[in-house]
Amino acid sequence: SSPKDSSKGSGLSSDSPTEKTSVDGKVKATFVTLARNSDLMSLLGSIRQVEDRFNRRYHYDWVFLNDEPFDEEFKAATSALVSGTTKYGLIPKEEWSFPEWISEEKAALTRENMKNIIYGASKSYRFMCRYESGFFWRHELMKDYEYYWRVEPDIQIYCDIDYDVFKFMKNNNKKYGFTITLPEYKDTIPTLWDTTKKFIEQNKQYVVPNNLLEWISDDNGKTYNGCHFWSNFEVASLDLWRSEAYRAYFDHLDHSGGFFYERWGDAPVHSIAAALFLQKDQVHFFNDVGYYHVPFHNCPISTETRLKKNCVCDPNADFTWKDYSCTAKFHTINNLPRPQGWEKFAG
Ligand code: GDP
Ligand code: MN
Repeated sequence: SSPKDSSKGSGLSSDSPTEKTSVDGKVKATFVTLARNSDLMSLLGSIRQVEDRFNRRYHYDWVFLNDEPFDEEFKAATSALVSGTTKYGLIPKEEWSFPEWISEEKAALTRENMKNIIYGASKSYRFMCRYESGFFWRHELMKDYEYYWRVEPDIQIYCDIDYDVFKFMKNNNKKYGFTITLPEYKDTIPTLWDTTKKFIEQNKQYVVPNNLLEWISDDNGKTYNGCHFWSNFEVASLDLWRSEAYRAYFDHLDHSGGFFYERWGDAPVHSIAAALFLQKDQVHFFNDVGYYHVPFHNCPISTETRLKKNCVCDPNADFTWKDYSCTAKFHTINNLPRPQGWEKFAG
């Protein structure tokens, strides 16, 4: 599909929020997993659970992406589990290496200096974060799709998902869906917000009214509070990243060098963009998708929900209402009702 109409100021092609486009049948959607061949054994459990809890009834496709060619064992084992069509893509070298404007020496020095920060010394982790920010949605194999669900190795899906989440997104004009939120380690993003502010000052037209700025900043944009959607789980519209606004934002960030001279994660980058380029009601909290990625759990605290959806998680481990989570604030800003008894799970 071609880049969508970018009128309406934001550069985003969004239907008006009141207009509900009903779709019958399947949405053009796919699962997407970035992985190495060595991730296979950790990934099989993730796929099995996504299939058992959801996709065995819907048969959506699954795109696998890798900076090296997938081997036959990886392809055979994953294809055996996925009930939809599987596709295996190689990442172009330019998208998984240092761009020409980056000094490799300065990048190496950064890695040396960031040894005490999680993934601070890793080069491949930085390529990964830059790729998930700026490139996965441009991959040839992603062109046919409108929505995606990102799946990582070693995750758990705790509850049945008894409706089509992609259809839900499309019919309700949702563009970004999440399960877990938390504040980012400030040491990984010292200049991300200042770099963002510079972009916004020069591109005010991209910031939409009724956005989620209040969720990512406690002082009306002066500073970033670090709140982000944890991007190892994402159900989102590819149009968000394909938009003029996001392409320009990514270019701006990429040229500033922070993916390499700091350790910017794709989660804060995606989240800041979603918060500024989407209306707040276009972002959806999948409360009912029981989910785990080490070390945090999303487990519905409503006993009724857990029984109805055959959940296998412990509500006491749920992260949603804990003080460190940013999801309570998301409820406040969006005027969403909180489940009964949420206070008992805070602290
Ligand atoms: P974490 O969740 O932040 O601890 O990071 P992960 O190690 O889970 O990596 C995030 C995603 O990128 C996972 O889907 C990994 O399989 C994938 N990934 C990480 N590093 C590489 C890499 O060097 N090559 C490829 N192809 N995938 C990677
Ligand atoms: Mn992970």
